[in-house]
Amino acid sequence: MATITEERILEALRRVRDPEQGKDLVSLGMIGGLAIKDGNVGFSVEVAAQRGAAAEPLRKAAEQAVFALEGVTSVTAVLTAHSGGAGAGQPPTGNGPAGSAAAAPKGSGADRIGSIVAVASGKGGVGKSTTAANLALALMAEGARTGLLDADIYGPSMPRMMGVRGKPTTADGKVLDPMNGHGVKLMSMGFLVDEETPMIWRGPMVMSALQQLLQDVDWGPLDVLVVDMPPGTGDAQLTLAQTAKLAGAVIVSTPQDIALLDARKGLNMFRKVDVPVLGIVENMSYFQCPHCGERSDIFSHGGARREAERLGVPFLGEIPLDIAIRETSDGGRPIVAAEPDGPHAAAYREIAMKVLDRLDAGADGPKPAPKIVIR
Ligand code: ADP
Repeated sequence: MATITEERILEALRRVRDPEQGKDLVSLGMIGGLAIKDGNVGFSVEVAAQRGAAAEPLRKAAEQAVFALEGVTSVTAVLTAHSGGAGAGQPPTGNGPAGSAAAAPKGSGADRIGSIVAVASGKGGVGKSTTAANLALALMAEGARTGLLDADIYGPSMPRMMGVRGKPTTADGKVLDPMNGHGVKLMSMGFLVDEETPMIWRGPMVMSALQQLLQDVDWGPLDVLVVDMPPGTGDAQLTLAQTAKLAGAVIVSTPQDIALLDARKGLNMFRKVDVPVLGIVENMSYFQCPHCGERSDIFSHGGARREAERLGVPFLGEIPLDIAIRETSDGGRPIVAAEPDGPHAAAYREIAMKVLDRLDAGADGPKPAPKIVIR
């Protein structure tokens, strides 16, 4: 098999013309960050920021030209947008990934993930991240090779919640190695930018950053990747649900929110993009007294179970409001890792088992998404 060399790749790219500038990509200095590892090739196509998504056909053409070379098994071409014109200047934020990311034809980080499961909520503050972290740990405890992607790029909380610090490394200068949080592979924008840096993301860049966290991370092989979705049900969430090829979604709700329609917004969003809702978790379901262990149903507990039944969506389980859950996740060791034999870990594991069962059932054949009736 022919060896892949930088020269052969550049030669292929010399045959790709930028119609806007009338010259080939190499002569125009638009190719950057060329990385070759065995048959896997990665590079960036640098374009002026104002061209944005209009440059997508060019990116595709570059990718295809390299992919056609004998010996190439995968190509990831990424558009990087520069404010100062083609091939010059800094990315707009100077921080996160810029431009629009590519979907690699084969061999990309996301290809070795069995199922991608989103954890979502209709609004912030209901314990979505806490649930995502504990669910990931519980899936691992059930024997699944698990990853956790913090897709909340505005307020990434996973580094703190999973107690992981530092920066991810890269072996080939192109694909990042995920971090490790209590045995779970972990990636978050929080590892890539300083906490102090204000993040100004424009719409397309949000998607680009998220796709890169998915595609340009050496995730695999994984059975399940849990994605802690950004809170809410706006465009970013919708696009992510669409592009990440989700196997299913878990909706987190508090008892009072389910009645207030917020959780239904989440259900509705996944229905729009044909992603099966694996079920609802009722978080802060009832209050567990840390002193006497007595249980009080302060928020009309059980609302989510009833509502799930009414909406025809599985109910996955309930997690109490317990200071131990807050303290452990705020302290960097979520309760499933901190007290693996305790009752809360058991509750999360039960939810994890139901998630795995539903994913298995889905894998047996095409299965219609649960019917959701919004009244
Ligand atoms: P979201 O991701 O929905 O914004 P978080 O997971 O960040 O919410 O949770 C918000 C706060 O509530 C955190 O301080 C977290 O520790 C706490 N919390 C979440 N779930 C529980 C629970 N079941 N019991 C006690 N505290 C909780």
